[in-house]
Amino acid sequence: MAVMDTFDLDYTLRLRLKVIRGMTSVTLLLALGLGLLNIFIGQHFIYGGMQCLYAFFSLGLYLNASKTDSLHWSKQLYVYSLVGLIASGAHMAPLMSYLLMWALALPIVFYLLLGKRFGIVLSGFYFVAQITIIYFKTETFYTSPLLNFAFSYLLVWGISHTYETSRANSEKALRTLALKDPLTGAFNRLSLTKTYSQLNKSQPVSLALLDIDYFKNVNDSYGHPFGDEVLKKIAQGLTSATNRNSVFRIGGEEFCILMENVTPELAVIKAEEIRSKVAAEYVTHGKDNIHVTVSIGVSTSTDSSLSELLKAADVNLYLAKEKGRNCVVYK
Ligand code: GH3
Ligand code: MG
Ligand code: MG
Repeated sequence: MAVMDTFDLDYTLRLRLKVIRGMTSVTLLLALGLGLLNIFIGQHFIYGGMQCLYAFFSLGLYLNASKTDSLHWSKQLYVYSLVGLIASGAHMAPLMSYLLMWALALPIVFYLLLGKRFGIVLSGFYFVAQITIIYFKTETFYTSPLLNFAFSYLLVWGISHTYETSRANSEKALRTLALKDPLTGAFNRLSLTKTYSQLNKSQPVSLALLDIDYFKNVNDSYGHPFGDEVLKKIAQGLTSATNRNSVFRIGGEEFCILMENVTPELAVIKAEEIRSKVAAEYVTHGKDNIHVTVSIGVSTSTDSSLSELLKAADVNLYLAKEKGRNCVVYK
């Protein structure tokens, strides 16, 4: 489990961190270089000054993104200021400076840094803004720059949209594959590790460890596929009896229910409820209704590690088996 414990599935955050670090380093150098050129050679003091300011701003964001993993405000700020810089440049400069070419990079930035929803809205908004700027800059109405810009922008927008949609979908599918058990649809052990690490441990955390009684006999008597049906049925029962996100299949026929901010007394009541619910349900095999029971070990902690909590629950589960099964033990 050592490798799995540190396994991080947030690819989007890592991608965005990389993008913002890469982009801020490029815009730092570029804006500084262009800003100095504009001030000292082009004598465009206002725009050159804005570019130099943007270079310092990029440096600040780069340092922030390098230090922290919190991109929430910095990526928004970065995108809007870049839009401001490009739009004001396109507004101030003559059309022949081709400054509007920079706008072609914007949909990529919107989608890469802010995702699909912001991507659609901001790309659409900037498209209208840039078309308006071009329209008012063209003295004698001449459609070529407008149409060329419009088509190339729409192409970049379409590619960015397709790319981000399929990237986000792949990540979602990958997360499901990595965190869920394909047979029962319950979350798996990796998911338990992740969930537990994110819990607020200042409140008591209780855990119920469930093991199906004499499950080997079920398989031996009715076959493995029927055993699988029983596992699915039990997982369904557990998810309907508790919060869907707190049921984990952590072994072949072992499930665990995580109860955040629940005292041991309440956890035992909940576990007893689950035990009697499972015992009352059945799976049909031909004309027979097959009932199975579960034994449950409960443990509680405010500051122990997941493995300590599981170990304590496992000791109680063993006692429940010894007591004759189909019961709950908390000691
Ligand atoms: P106890 O009451 O002591 O828990 O008895 P048991 O028979 O349940 O315990 P044991 O550990 O001997 O058997 C567990 C069985 O669970 C053995 C294995 O074949 C079965 N099993 C584990 N995973 C699966 C699965 O995915 N599908 C099916 N059908 N059976 C499984
Ligand atoms: Mg077992
Ligand atoms: Mg068992």
